[in-house]
Amino acid sequence: MPCGHAHHQKGYAELNFAAQPKWIKSITSGRLDQFSGGYFSSINLSSAQVKHRTDDPKNVKLEVWSAPGRTKPEFAEAIKQEFRPAKKGESFGPSLTLNVPKAWANEERIQFEFDPGCEAMIWTKDGLPVQGITGGNDGDRRVDYILDAKARSSEHLFYIESSCNGMFGINGINPPDDNRSYGLASADIVVPNMSAVALLRDFQTLKEIRTHITAEVHLSHHAQWVANEIMNVWQKGGGASGLLGNEELLKLVEECRKVGEEIFGQGWREQKEKVYEGKEVQVWGIGHCHIDTAWLWPYSVTQQKVARSWSTQVDLMERYPEYRFVASSAQQYKWLEELYPPLFEKVKAKIKSGQFHTIGGQWLESDVNMPSGEALCRQFLYGQRYFESRFGIRSVTSWLPDSFGYTGSLPQILRLSGMKYFFTQKLSWNNINRFPHSTFNWVGIDGSQVLVHMTPVDTYTAQATVEDVRKGITGHKNLEVTNQSLLVFGNGDGGGGPLEAMVENLRRIRAVANKYREIPIVKMGNTVEEFFETVEAQTNEGKNLPNWHGEMYFEFHRGTYTSHGSIKRGNRKSEILLHDIEYVATLASLFGTKGAYTYPKDKIDPLWEDVLLNQFHDVLPGSAIGMVYDDAERIYAKVAKNGSQLLDEAVQALFKSSAPISPTAPFTHASTSKGKIIAINTLGKPRREVVEINVSGKGADVLKSQAVQISKSGEKGYVLVDVTDGVVGEVKGMFADLTPASAHKTPEGDYVLQNSNVKMTFSKGRIVSLYDIALKRELIPEGLTGGLIYFNDQPGYWDAWDVEVHHLEAPHPVAFEEFAITENGPIRAQLQTRVKIGKSTIDMSISLDATPGSLKADARSAFRFDARVDWHQRHEILKFEIPLDIHSPNANFEMQFGYVGRPTHRNTTWDIAKFEVPGHKWADLSEFGYGVALLTESKYGYSADGQYMRISFLRGSTSPDAEQDQGEHTFSWAVYPHVGSLGDADIPGVAREFNYPLHLRYIPDSSSLSSMTALTREVPFSVEGAPGVIIDTVKRGEDDKFDSHHTGATTIVVRLYEAYGGHATAKLRISSRVPVSKASITNILEDELTPLELSRAPSAGQGEDTILELPFRGFQIVTVKLTIDAGLLSRPSSESG
Ligand SMILES: [Zn+2]
Repeated sequence: MPCGHAHHQKGYAELNFAAQPKWIKSITSGRLDQFSGGYFSSINLSSAQVKHRTDDPKNVKLEVWSAPGRTKPEFAEAIKQEFRPAKKGESFGPSLTLNVPKAWANEERIQFEFDPGCEAMIWTKDGLPVQGITGGNDGDRRVDYILDAKARSSEHLFYIESSCNGMFGINGINPPDDNRSYGLASADIVVPNMSAVALLRDFQTLKEIRTHITAEVHLSHHAQWVANEIMNVWQKGGGASGLLGNEELLKLVEECRKVGEEIFGQGWREQKEKVYEGKEVQVWGIGHCHIDTAWLWPYSVTQQKVARSWSTQVDLMERYPEYRFVASSAQQYKWLEELYPPLFEKVKAKIKSGQFHTIGGQWLESDVNMPSGEALCRQFLYGQRYFESRFGIRSVTSWLPDSFGYTGSLPQILRLSGMKYFFTQKLSWNNINRFPHSTFNWVGIDGSQVLVHMTPVDTYTAQATVEDVRKGITGHKNLEVTNQSLLVFGNGDGGGGPLEAMVENLRRIRAVANKYREIPIVKMGNTVEEFFETVEAQTNEGKNLPNWHGEMYFEFHRGTYTSHGSIKRGNRKSEILLHDIEYVATLASLFGTKGAYTYPKDKIDPLWEDVLLNQFHDVLPGSAIGMVYDDAERIYAKVAKNGSQLLDEAVQALFKSSAPISPTAPFTHASTSKGKIIAINTLGKPRREVVEINVSGKGADVLKSQAVQISKSGEKGYVLVDVTDGVVGEVKGMFADLTPASAHKTPEGDYVLQNSNVKMTFSKGRIVSLYDIALKRELIPEGLTGGLIYFNDQPGYWDAWDVEVHHLEAPHPVAFEEFAITENGPIRAQLQTRVKIGKSTIDMSISLDATPGSLKADARSAFRFDARVDWHQRHEILKFEIPLDIHSPNANFEMQFGYVGRPTHRNTTWDIAKFEVPGHKWADLSEFGYGVALLTESKYGYSADGQYMRISFLRGSTSPDAEQDQGEHTFSWAVYPHVGSLGDADIPGVAREFNYPLHLRYIPDSSSLSSMTALTREVPFSVEGAPGVIIDTVKRGEDDKFDSHHTGATTIVVRLYEAYGGHATAKLRISSRVPVSKASITNILEDELTPLELSRAPSAGQGEDTILELPFRGFQIVTVKLTIDAGLLSRPSSESG
């Protein structure tokens, strides 16, 4: 007979009189929230986290010195200052002496908890940064500095450098608050109860499983049941009583943790990092720390953030052998190398041992919409060379998780920079369409491809939660061919990186996956490259992956092509100046007086590094605080000053005693009637232009005598420059084929600019007619007008970043007023006019020249607009618009090394999204036989909207910089009508001429030209047989040595690209004056890849030119390295040349 005492029985009982309800899941779920923190924190598991804590002055001696103003003294300087005693609640910059109580000596962990409310860094007394601190109570809080054995036993002195800024600057994305201060909340020695800490982590992982695995699966519900059971054990064992001794508490915690093994598996704790053993993997964890090189803080603060973040990561690596961390940006490594050498050595050691991974191969994570093609090449050339020189590593993975859209030129640039993989996630921020792929081949405009992973986790600052790991699979859009994804975790933007808790959580999640199939298998311990290699292998070398062709347009942050107009201008002007310096300096190093000139690579490199720095993805886009722009403007001013000097020195090396001629400044150089104006053309192709010069100075008579047209005031002169068969052009009189330009006012009060091929009419302040005279064709549609226009510009949260689609719904066309005819031919006609908008004034000249836009037979002339703007508008965007009677479904916009078509219609949501688009020097709307191009010289924002083409000029957002775009601006643009397609009309070439000025020089004696026939009669490098192939860059080879007694090779690098989008076979002609002994095709990194056959052809001068035959596909970039026989160079040998 059964006895009736069921609990004494083994096996399934026969009788059961207990109530035993099925639990109410939602209530139990709520109960789990009471086990840590919150209302019950004095009796729940939180109460057991710390064993001991003290801030007794006997144990913690705190002294402080505050650096004056915004200075950032170096460590050695700072510790020499006089420190005064301090205490909690005060402000900072302390030195600390700790005396750990003797009784605590054997504790598992002793840490110093320091919470200044802001960011800080702990330094050893010898000047080694060892740990970053993030104070405050946000998710990125990190206030514990673990004391090592030495620090426990004796008196331990160290320093803390506190910076009065938070992780996200001083006031989030609002302008900085100068009156913000921070208080010292904690400076305590703490002995944590590590078992209780671990239990809390167990418990939190269980809760995450229950919260985030929402499918009705056993694991999820069972995790809740186990977590609840842990609470029961805790409460039954007296955990909430507050009466347990240390031993008893430990025992109870251990009992609770045992319950957790139901989910984590038996023995998982002893496995430690070996929990990851086993081949199968789905989600690859990699620690990361996105440090914006400037954003809500200036560059100088970023330098500290790098040291703080990376020292913390080195510490984490030492405690977790499986831990891997990846960091991009050569610039950040270089700062560390220069400013924190001991820490740099520690990082270097971790790179060598394989836990710290470099990535990206780039100078920094730049914007990739706006930098020129050559600047992007330099981003990778300088980046890869830095990583290679310091660590012997080249990256194969491009890393741009946070840039605002990706040009279709990038795949080719990456392949040519030694990379084949690409990581991002930013397109998950699209505000209209969802990007359809996670893992795919990205095919650029030339056909080059890279393997892309856009993490399905949709972030580069994952917190390594169950939800993050799960999203790696549930968010993956290409599970049909691959089940691999990258989990990039760690606090970021302001730095910081992963916390210990994240690394611990991943171990737990993996332990669960080792027991249950309902959670993806996460792995730590590999490189990003190993992840990509696995994907490559799994997808039949990418052949099973879908392709995405062309640009990856970002459907967000469209204001960043326009915000901070002066920064955009600084970028474009600097890129062009550097081009010109390299071109002329290369020639000077070949043809200058022997021994008198050295190619100034050591001065050019720092200027490039400056330009690359300002291309950071929150600087050039205009989305940083005002302080960042103060720095950026200073940097551009330095580039302009030092660059102009370098250019002048190079020109002087070729034309001794020559002097620059300015369009604006009076010419004061002593001159004689024998003097002559010459023009240096850095584009290597013939051009003919009207150039404005100032003829007012005391030495200007000789200039005046060579001008074809002098303004009424007598201050301005216009010269006709013709550079047809050399780098150096001369000033000419009128040509027979010129079409004299004129301006007049009609009896109706309209103003007209015209020459014999085109005419523009202004009526009531708007452009009412653009007329092609030869074709008798009106280009402005009936009833529409062009001119300046502004729109209310009130986007959502991201003020500086976004111009939103609805801005187009409230247009304000404005009229040109106060017209005056300021020039009236024969070679330049010009109207002066003014526009007023609110408190802003726009003074503008509109010009038409007698010269056509190019030397092509049927070329028309461009209408040029030069604006000087005093801008005081806020939340308004200024544009130029022109409606055109040209019908095409697409308009084209120049990008790096090519162009991209965007729709003029709005058929689909993908078309609607492209209401504002990035472009470089030109945008073009063409139909069969005819088109109109817009040319710019410092603008990047455009739109094609039905019949309207627009350029965006200025905005006035107030966050994060309250003063964005306020003040003076100058910029120019042109309207260029043309016969035929953009290729027929050579729009890429015309836009280059609009951007690259001829450099006018005065030479005192034209006989000095005769010694320079290599430049006056010949172009050293030119292209034949392929009108679409452009010589973009000419420079000296990166590996040439330029010290005074070098014996190495003399090499020249020529970078060309096909600009029209079609196959071509180009002949690169190198003048006989440049004795080429060897030539090869290289990549961007200047590795010699394919030798080229040298063939010779009769020269226009003496000897034989070298001809290199180069096949191109559309938009292909080809880099050629020429080795020069320096002994055969004929140069002036004496100072008299
Ligand atoms: Zn960023």
